[in-house]
Amino acid sequence: MIEVVVTAKGRRWAQTGHPWIYRDDLAAVPTTVAPGDLVRVVAEPDRFLGFAFYSSHSRIALRLVTRTAEEPTEDFWEASLLQALAYRRRVVWDTTAYRLLYAEADGFPGLILDYYHGHLVAQIHHPGPERLLPLLVELWRRHLQPESIILRNDSDVRRLEGLPQEVKVVWGQPPPLATVQEGSVQLRVDLQRGQKTGLFLDQRENRLAAAALAQGQVLDCFSYQGGFALQVARRAARVTAVEASAAALALARQNADLNGLAGIEWVQANCFDFLKDAVASGQRYDLIILDPPAFAKSRQERQGAIRGYRELNRRALQLAAPGGILITSSCSYNLTSEDFLNLLRQAAREVGRPVRLLEQRGAARDHPVHLFLPESSYLKCFFLQVE
Ligand code: SAH
Repeated sequence: MIEVVVTAKGRRWAQTGHPWIYRDDLAAVPTTVAPGDLVRVVAEPDRFLGFAFYSSHSRIALRLVTRTAEEPTEDFWEASLLQALAYRRRVVWDTTAYRLLYAEADGFPGLILDYYHGHLVAQIHHPGPERLLPLLVELWRRHLQPESIILRNDSDVRRLEGLPQEVKVVWGQPPPLATVQEGSVQLRVDLQRGQKTGLFLDQRENRLAAAALAQGQVLDCFSYQGGFALQVARRAARVTAVEASAAALALARQNADLNGLAGIEWVQANCFDFLKDAVASGQRYDLIILDPPAFAKSRQERQGAIRGYRELNRRALQLAAPGGILITSSCSYNLTSEDFLNLLRQAAREVGRPVRLLEQRGAARDHPVHLFLPESSYLKCFFLQVE
């Protein structure tokens, strides 16, 4: 097996627990190494660190797979899969759509695998798991007996790794729309064309928690296919769901019909404009949900993102009826929990109404966080109440 040597600095970094090693910290790379190779990682002089996937394109040269001395074989990958499945059996009980493998946090760097009631949707972000795909498909078929397996390899990150962007069915025949259950709501999901792998699975537990709090007038901003709106509809008097994408709203309407949920008003609009107009016309809501896309995709975008989040949250706080609840999210990794809290404090000061923090939540439990990879913790979902 090819051996890659890291510098003393690289060794110290790896020993902190972080599973990535950057190219600057490599001392010697054999010319024969190819993207996606599983390599032995050592530090001078001959100190074994682990086995890792190699990348020649990205600044992240190595992604550690294991730190044990035994070379990963089929049994290793099978054991990792079974462990991930066992964990999901413990923490997932309210849905037939959930994340099965979450990259490094489940021992599969560069790979995401989502389960949609009998159908598997994978996202491969690295040449390492791309190379392993035939074995992975075999293991998934053996242990999950899926009706179909789809590769949603259309994300931008693949370009950074020099991998082609494509959507491909590698097993079975997926239906045009899959049907899943989330809590008491049935959802039709477009696994091949929907955003992410079809649903924003990370918000599932927050959607169900929102449903438990729903009453009166509800506003769901950045609704996508009505994820929150459909969950809260049964307890609310009226729900207004705002979303920019016509395709997302079409499926949202279909899902409302499927569940016999009539009291939802679907609005195709820019949420910034909608919120501004709603404030101007003196609207009030008992529950407001803000779930915008990541505004800060890089550190450079951080300041602009903070301004955007602050504006949204300021307007939402203005729209809250007395005692109203705001469920506000940020999925920008480049914005920490503390940053988010600070901008919420600023928004509350600007509005001049007393606001208290009820809950600080993150992604659902099927999205575990690798303790030494802060990059795997991105979702903040805070529940606030306005006096
Ligand atoms: N809350 C949803 C997920 C939201 S994802 C759920 O639980 O399923 C963010 C959504 O915001 C996407 O559907 C995207 O199309 C939409 N979006 C992005 N910018 C927007 C804007 N300025 N106005 C309205 N919708 C927007």
